Amino acid sequence: MILTVTMNPSVDISYPIPDFKLDDVNRVEGARKTAGGKGLNVARVIKQMGEGVVTTGVLGGTIGDFIIQELSKDRIENYFLKISQESRNCVAILHDSKQTEILESGPTLTAEDVAAFLRKYESLLTDVSLVTISGSLPKGLPPGFYRELVERSHVRGIPIVVDTSGESLRQVLVNEVKPFAIKPNITELSQLLGINVEPGIESLSQALSNEYFQGVEWIVVSMGCSGAFVKNGQDFYQVTIPKINVVNPVGSGDATVAGFAVAVKHRQSVQAVLKTAMTTGILNAMEDVTGYINTANFESIFNQVKVKKIDL
Ligand code: ADP
Repeated sequence: MILTVTMNPSVDISYPIPDFKLDDVNRVEGARKTAGGKGLNVARVIKQMGEGVVTTGVLGGTIGDFIIQELSKDRIENYFLKISQESRNCVAILHDSKQTEILESGPTLTAEDVAAFLRKYESLLTDVSLVTISGSLPKGLPPGFYRELVERSHVRGIPIVVDTSGESLRQVLVNEVKPFAIKPNITELSQLLGINVEPGIESLSQALSNEYFQGVEWIVVSMGCSGAFVKNGQDFYQVTIPKINVVNPVGSGDATVAGFAVAVKHRQSVQAVLKTAMTTGILNAMEDVTGYINTANFESIFNQVKVKKIDL
């Protein structure tokens, strides 16, 4: 069983309004409302891969109830901490081939909420063999909060994959207890290191040799249609992927985390782990719905992903 953590889930609302007008009334047809949050995408893809998954985090109010309903419809086991404050809506207005987003910040957690969540997390750890943490933190949590989750899983010998950015990521990496894996994209990697990392082997291998990453077993730098550059132990790999018909790449990073988690759980070889992780990311990009993969295409895409070990 894999546990996915989403500390600040949302209801994602998309409004297609082709001729969006400012300072005027806009009417919308075809509004779509889904349970959002990176960790929920990870959970959905793990489920579609036929793997056991449970999902946790913090939510509340009627928006929180909607999220639970949606997860239950997908038969995803969910054990969220329920709080009295309302979870957030995130609105995307689709207009003129552009996307204008309005993102609520969501609830502010109290010290009691944090303590209650940690108790829930601890109890869930008794039944899982791998954990993924995705996304940003809600207000009220210190940027070092994920360190706590990493340490608690480490005590039990449970590998943990952390997909976050900015100060949350930095705090996880400067800690003595390291996560098992991280999955920054190149922008997040550049931001972490305060340099402009180029997508070439030299720049990437130099970046991943930074002491931030010492003791992290896997660093998967995902690069959209260019595949990924990876450090596993002391080895570097370049992963190239086939050209596909891209429909909607939103959530591909989450799908990559899902594929990676499942492959690691099954103790696949380095090559197979990377091929699986890329394949689920690609399959997500081929679909309109975020966090959805058509598993019928898995094998054909998997066979077209190439993993090359780099000799430096
Ligand atoms: P993130 O969403 O975290 O920025 P990426 O955009 O790097 O992550 O996507 C993760 C993975 O999904 C990529 O490594 C690749 O395998 C796949 N992917 C993403 N975008 C595309 C695309 N346009 N074409 C093909 N595959 C893609």
